[in-house]
Amino acid sequence: MSPKRVHKVPKLAVANRHQHVQQTARPEHNSLRYRAKAHRDLPHIVKFSGGRSSGMLLFALLENQLLDRDRGDVIVFNNTASEHPGTYRFARDCKEASNRYGIPFFWVEFQTYEDSRNGEWTRLPSYRLVNDKPKSAENPDGFHWRGEVFEELLSWSGYVPNQFSRICTKNMKLEVTRMFLKDWLACKARIPRLGHFGERSRMDVNAMYRRHRRSQGAVPKEIFTQKKSYALSRPHIRPEQKYGDFSSAWRKFHNSALEGRIFGDQASFGKGGVEYVAFVGLRGDEQVRVERVQARNAGPGSVGYEGEHVYMPLADMSVTRDEVNAFWDHQEWDLTLPREGSLSNCVYCFLKGAKNLRAVRNSMEEEKHSQEPGFGSLLDTPSDIAWWIRMENTYARDLVAEGRRITGNPASKTIGFFGTKTDFSYKVLAKAGEADLATYSADLLPCDCTE
Ligand code: SF4
Repeated sequence: MSPKRVHKVPKLAVANRHQHVQQTARPEHNSLRYRAKAHRDLPHIVKFSGGRSSGMLLFALLENQLLDRDRGDVIVFNNTASEHPGTYRFARDCKEASNRYGIPFFWVEFQTYEDSRNGEWTRLPSYRLVNDKPKSAENPDGFHWRGEVFEELLSWSGYVPNQFSRICTKNMKLEVTRMFLKDWLACKARIPRLGHFGERSRMDVNAMYRRHRRSQGAVPKEIFTQKKSYALSRPHIRPEQKYGDFSSAWRKFHNSALEGRIFGDQASFGKGGVEYVAFVGLRGDEQVRVERVQARNAGPGSVGYEGEHVYMPLADMSVTRDEVNAFWDHQEWDLTLPREGSLSNCVYCFLKGAKNLRAVRNSMEEEKHSQEPGFGSLLDTPSDIAWWIRMENTYARDLVAEGRRITGNPASKTIGFFGTKTDFSYKVLAKAGEADLATYSADLLPCDCTE
């Protein structure tokens, strides 16, 4: 099969004099901010989300030769193991098509590992590199897609995310990318093994529970043990991994802009640490999200979150969802999910809102019974609402069992994915008719998993 190619990519040109990147095909929208003098020597990181917008951005950057492997530029996709199989196929196709440009493209996943802290064994957060094929006995370095990554996070944390506590975005996306970059920007060929050298887990659930009680935790031991069991069943080490095994475009690089900012095997972040450019695929019609990211990187000369300088070229060029869809109409492959985005990100993300979640349920309840080519059955995976109900039942906080005062909705005795102000839940979503769900719309937010 011939390698995938892209067509009709917007032309971008760096105009150094004005320190702008210009979209020459649409001069009326040419105001992409690019501080070439200050930023052109920094490594450029493309945060690929698995959606059409970030795919278009990726190929606009690649086709216009704005990325450079020798500078340390890299493309990163965070896998939550909870995406629709269509997203994984699209991310794989984008990775395959990007190979010809020679920029390394990595898929990374959250994972924990065991180590000792203050004389006690504990599980610490980390990440692993995975390849772009589903994990199997024959492909042990493959990506997870049956919710394993998400469930490990819930089991490790002991509770579920909600709109006020987005532990999923924070741990599976923001922190994983940060940990990956700390390693990547150290310019090494591999990431080191993490964890003790025992053959099996050294964690003792009794010791864990004593620690929980010492820190004012009130979860009954039976529930605590049940919650922790999944994380304790996961691998207790992160093996050493070579970048070259996960991206054929990888080559060792040296960037003098990073000199003096690498200590041992890791780049230093924060004051006096590394700086880098981050490309995010937010569009011109996503102003709320754009402004939130801009606030993080306010003002000329400012160093954003720990040395990150964020660029949003699609937003700067006022590219809309329709234009992104038109771009993909010209390509040989596309994301095989609805264009309005209801199945993007984690399939049943709690931030999607009742209307979208109902649409997700209606489409996935049929689809989950089919065999997904290359994957298999979707039953009891994040494409099946039963998986989300199981997560809710296992990891939501039970306020009655903990002896806590109920201060939110009196009917809500748990803190689940939808918080305490509503009695909406995945169980309700699974059974409710259209009219029942309408009453919940106002309680939910649209999904905006900003990276
Ligand atoms: S898409 Fe939703 S569930 Fe998934 S990580 Fe983002 S906020 Fe969490």
